[in-house]
Amino acid sequence: MKRLLLVTCGAAFCLSAAATEIGEGIRTGQRVLLQKTRASDNAEAVQIITASFEHLLAVRGAGQPVTLRVTSDSASGEAMLGAVVMVDESIAALPEDERLFEIAHELGHIELAHLERQIAIYRQYVGASEDDVYIARTLNAHALEFSPALQALELEADAYGQRLLLRIPDAEQGGIHTFERNGYVRADFSHPSSHERLLRLLTLLPVPPDLAALAH
Ligand SMILES: [Zn+2]
Repeated sequence: MKRLLLVTCGAAFCLSAAATEIGEGIRTGQRVLLQKTRASDNAEAVQIITASFEHLLAVRGAGQPVTLRVTSDSASGEAMLGAVVMVDESIAALPEDERLFEIAHELGHIELAHLERQIAIYRQYVGASEDDVYIARTLNAHALEFSPALQALELEADAYGQRLLLRIPDAEQGGIHTFERNGYVRADFSHPSSHERLLRLLTLLPVPPDLAALAH
């Protein structure tokens, strides 16, 4: 899940048919987005990403049914419809640990049923309304109230991803490397800042990297 509120979510809702309650609106928007994206025809990239995905499923063990969709035109990872990890072919070029983290984070959204929880957060404000204008206005008006709940989902997905990476040799700093490489990204309604996410990941490591370096 990336820029959800008022961007992805807002767009998703607008893409749906008129007179749709929030849950169905978001699902319809995600179905449309899945159909709009182009499947990658870069066989080598798909193979690399599929291997990382299957490695993560192997260390995860039993869990929610999930499939992988590699595209050539999606900017960043997305968990779609509670069942599909959608990533761009460009992550094939990342170091393995960073690619694993990117996929593991999206797996976390699926495994932790974040789509349902996200919809539940919105329904607290808009109920079963099917009035597009009312829904958009109400969500905008209350965005600061539910932003922490949306951000918490991202931190949960990060933590889930980190737990999976701890089970893979040489992968445990994949999330940290990801945030370091991307540099500072400020918080928005649905995502904490990259600084906060990085600090949270550090607390989940058995030994913080700076202390591990001191030991050598
Ligand atoms: Zn996310």
